Amino acid sequence: MKTKAPAGNPYASLSTPVWRGSTVVFDNFEDFVGRKSRQPDGYSYGITGTPTARGLEKHIAALEGAHHCVVMPSGASALITTVMAFVRGGDHLLISESCYGSLKTFGRLWLAKMGVEVEFYPPTIDAGIGALIRSNTKMICMEAPGTVTMEMQDIDAITAIAKRRGVLTMMDNTWASPLFFKAIEHGVDFVVQAATKYFGGHSDLLMGSVSLNDVEHYGVLRETQSIFGQATSPEDCFLVDRGLQTYELRLKEQSRKALNVARWLEQQALVSEVLFPALESHPGHRIWREQFQGSGCLLSIILQAPAQEATFGAFFNALEHFPIGASWGGTHSLIAYYPASQQTSRLYSPTDQPIVRISIGLEDEALLISDLAKALEAYGRAL
Ligand SMILES: *Cc1c(COP(=O)(O)O)cnc(C)c1O
Repeated sequence: MKTKAPAGNPYASLSTPVWRGSTVVFDNFEDFVGRKSRQPDGYSYGITGTPTARGLEKHIAALEGAHHCVVMPSGASALITTVMAFVRGGDHLLISESCYGSLKTFGRLWLAKMGVEVEFYPPTIDAGIGALIRSNTKMICMEAPGTVTMEMQDIDAITAIAKRRGVLTMMDNTWASPLFFKAIEHGVDFVVQAATKYFGGHSDLLMGSVSLNDVEHYGVLRETQSIFGQATSPEDCFLVDRGLQTYELRLKEQSRKALNVARWLEQQALVSEVLFPALESHPGHRIWREQFQGSGCLLSIILQAPAQEATFGAFFNALEHFPIGASWGGTHSLIAYYPASQQTSRLYSPTDQPIVRISIGLEDEALLISDLAKALEAYGRAL
């Protein structure tokens, strides 16, 4: 798209201007009184976003192939605000057990105590979802592949059934992102990205986005975002918009490296399982191959048991390159640990072992592999 200088503006910059402001001023009394009619796209107060946010929303909507987008201050906020916009007491809500942790906790500790019938379903239920739908089922929450455990979900099967039964669907599409999965085309009503990950891409901000087609839903979502005060910083919108300029290049390169690292890990004797849908060995590989166009940079591994927590300490502390930390998708590789207790406390976990989760960045692949090899050696010695 060609960027043109606005008429009368001599500063024809290629960069997104950062508009700050809580207050929008009005030309006259009538405009002020009718200000609410400017929503969901226009400007009446800073909370619904400045032109910097609106510009970013247009770019994200275009990437997703959606008509509308609302940015939120974090991925978690995008998930929870979307549920709050459409689900009320008396409704039934289906959440995949592989969904993001704070969405599940929100369901359990808040919604369930506000009269919502919250039900966690097995991530690989696929067309079996039909049997769980009740007359009051309002929304199905999905994530593919699932957080940490990486189960694939048959998005086509679930959205087809949901549409027939008049149930809304929300999908957290952060792993594949629109580059590798156009969730809107697969019938998802609300596509969520943790823009904190690839869109931002540099581990220096938090943001979320919700993209959708239905204009009435858009109005409801914008109102909810505003009522809940979920305002997104214009500086962060600027940074994400800048991140989008390199997002596809970064992700293609990180994806290629992650697949090579996954294939290498699969060959290691001390690695019992690599949870990564792009590998032929993954139970969800067929769904991934049929519905997705590529793979993200995040993978999980299960190491040979039995091991105490201290043995994992030997693995992590031997790493010289990988920083230990939460989040993922940035230019730096990262590694994190999810204890066995977290798996055994789940209703439908594919394992009772601890999981090591690895995000692959833009560093030299040989360096990353030699670092992981050293950590595996240390693990082997400590076993
Ligand atoms: C990180 C993440 C989120 C939450 O995003 P934040 O911006 O950290 O709140 C949601 N879903 C997935 C899959 C994530 O990885």
